[in-house]
Amino acid sequence: MAESNPSASKYWLARVCLHPWTSGLAWPVRKTSYSARLGSYAHRKIECRVERTPDDTGAGQAWGATPRMRAMAAACAESASIYLGGLESDTARAEVAWRVSLGITTAGTAGTPPAPLNSTELFLAEPRAYPPLPGLYGTADLVAEPRPGTGGGGEGPVQPHLLVADWKTGMAKAPYTEHARWQLRWLGVAASKAMPELPRTVTLDACYLSKEGRRPWVQREFFTRDTKEWAAVEADVHRTLTRLTGPPEGPQPGPHCKLCPVREQCPEAI
Ligand code: SF4
Repeated sequence: MAESNPSASKYWLARVCLHPWTSGLAWPVRKTSYSARLGSYAHRKIECRVERTPDDTGAGQAWGATPRMRAMAAACAESASIYLGGLESDTARAEVAWRVSLGITTAGTAGTPPAPLNSTELFLAEPRAYPPLPGLYGTADLVAEPRPGTGGGGEGPVQPHLLVADWKTGMAKAPYTEHARWQLRWLGVAASKAMPELPRTVTLDACYLSKEGRRPWVQREFFTRDTKEWAAVEADVHRTLTRLTGPPEGPQPGPHCKLCPVREQCPEAI
């Protein structure tokens, strides 16, 4: 099935080649690997803790009863505890959509006038309930406002700020890549735009759950509104969205083809 809206996790690709979204090429059906299942399990474990709901993931069920799975469960518990102590309000699995106002209108269904796009929206809806409109969409694993004075995941008092976290689960052992960096920055800017009442500082956490026997670790980046760096991310997203809704550009091959989901169908893939 073809995909039309880039997601935060694929933003690194969208900004250099939009062909996967504008060509109508069918994306391969995603197979659920063991690592992906492990990742889903880990996400659910963390969500149960963040939402303070009973852990119903069933560590002992079927495929979960392995040493690696138990190690992952322990890592999740440790990882979640990094956050839980310092959170005033929290929202797990926050859907973020960023539709930049470019004078674009939606096509509108029969009898319905086209609606102007809002500049920003935050959806706290069912996961992946993205509306079929041009834009960039993403799911942050956690959007929260740490409680002042608790450290908010670090030591000592902190000023209130927005925390946006993404659990890097599965067997992720890669360091903080440019891909993850763009994903987190995109989510951070979009969440911040949707919550303008929050203070200027945004913390971006890529939380890696490591392999058996190793501690989870967090790659943290601080972002501040009204800085050049922040403006650069915004400008980048505006540029990408403008191109997304403009005339098709065709394939833009490069090193990024290596991890492109439609590379098998793309004649220009290198
Ligand atoms: S294979 Fe390369 S050129 Fe083709 S769509 Fe993917 S990124 Fe673009």
